This record gives sequence, C-alpha cells and structure tokens, in this order.
Amino acid sequence: MVMNRRSILITLCLVALLAVGGFVIYQRHQPVPGQAASSKKSSSRAAATQPDTSPTHTDFNKTQYSLTDPASIWVVVNKHRPLSPLNYAPTDLVSVGNGQQMRTEAATALSNMFAGVKKAGYSLSAASAYRSYTTQVSVYNKEVTEYGKATADSESARPGFSEHQTGLSVDIAGGGCSIEDCFGTTAEGKWTAAHAYEYGYILRYTSDKTPITGYRAEAWHFRYVGKDLANEMHTASFSTLEEFFSLGVAPDYN
Ligand SMILES: [Zn+2]
Repeated sequence: MVMNRRSILITLCLVALLAVGGFVIYQRHQPVPGQAASSKKSSSRAAATQPDTSPTHTDFNKTQYSLTDPASIWVVVNKHRPLSPLNYAPTDLVSVGNGQQMRTEAATALSNMFAGVKKAGYSLSAASAYRSYTTQVSVYNKEVTEYGKATADSESARPGFSEHQTGLSVDIAGGGCSIEDCFGTTAEGKWTAAHAYEYGYILRYTSDKTPITGYRAEAWHFRYVGKDLANEMHTASFSTLEEFFSLGVAPDYN
C-alpha cells in the first residue's frame, strides 16, 4: 500500500511537471499579439504601395439590367441612344407632387430623398419629372423657335431622346432655384449632389462631362438608376453612365 501511494504520488508529480513544461513550450510558440498585428499591418502597407490596376469592385455585375430596354432602370438615353420605341411611355407612373409623375420605384426613392433633406433642415420639390413624347415635341419645338436649333439641342432633348421620357429623371428645385444654375450653389443643391447616390440617384450632367453627355451642366437634373449602380458609380468615381458602361461619347446627334 505504501509503495502504491508513493508511486501514485511520483506519477502525479511527473504528470504535473509534464503539464507545466508542455504549457511553457506551447506559450513560447504562440505569436505575441502585438507582433502579429504589426506584421499584418506592414504587409497591408506593402500591398497599398503596389499600383492598383484592378477595378474597385470586380464582383459588380454590369450586365444585370438592360441598357437599351426603355423600361430598364439602367437604360442609357443620350443623343446617340434614343428610346426604342421613340414614343415609349412607362406603365407605372405615380405622382411625386407638384403635378409631376415618375415611375413607382423612382418616385419612392425621391420621396425618401426628400425626407432625407428635410432631416438636414432643407426642402426640395420636383420641378419637372416625366415628360411624354408629345410633351417633349412641344418643349423642343418651342426651344427651336425661340433660340434656334443649335441652342435647343444643347439645352433640350429631341423627342424620343430625353431621359425625362423614361419616368426615371427629375429636375429638382430648392433654395429658391428651379431649373436654374443657381441650384448648384444653394445648400439644397449641394446636399442633393452629395447625397443623391444614397437614394439611387445620380447627378446626370456636370460641366466637365459635356463632351461625353452632350449636355451642359444641369445642377438640377437627377436620374434614378437604383442604389446598387449609384453606389458603385460613387465608389468607383464615375459620374456618367457613358463612361461607367464604356458606351462611347455622345456629344451630338448623329
Ligand atoms: Zn432634366
């Protein structure tokens, strides 16, 4: 019994020693947290110094919606890309106030944007939204009569070539400016230009892109494209649909 007790004690001591020894060895082989973090940082710094040749989001699918179907939220309309059919009319127009209409999805997004600007302490309204083919005929003809064809073409789209006919575009008024350059200098205009993408809208015509879009700067004209695309264009620093989708420039009618 005595021998048994002794051998049990010795065995327990050996087990304890082995356990302690094993723990010490294990600890020595564990990376020190601070070192691990700093080595990760330095490797990411090294990666950051490499030129980034890949697109920002390679997983963004640029073909998920049609660019030609007039009912697609990604349809690209410009002086080279008329609506087809030319007299297309959306089927889901709803009121956006002020006697204006837009397609349901764009109208909901606009309403959310107007709620957003209200929280910021400002107020916006839809000065002009959906315009039918027939309406555009009179708008364009009036411009031609008043200012001549060249000026009309730089400021107003020909019937069938207007984004307003898609029901996805809106001219926004605020800060005492309605369809005027001054909108871009108002707090309302600046807020809208900065936040539109959060609601799925893009500022469609900017001064530096006139040779691409064919339109002079329109601080008031916003186009609904959906949150995914608007956010992707914002992240990747694209302001025109023509450039984002590599569609070529459309400075003038063919
Ligand atoms: Zn417009």
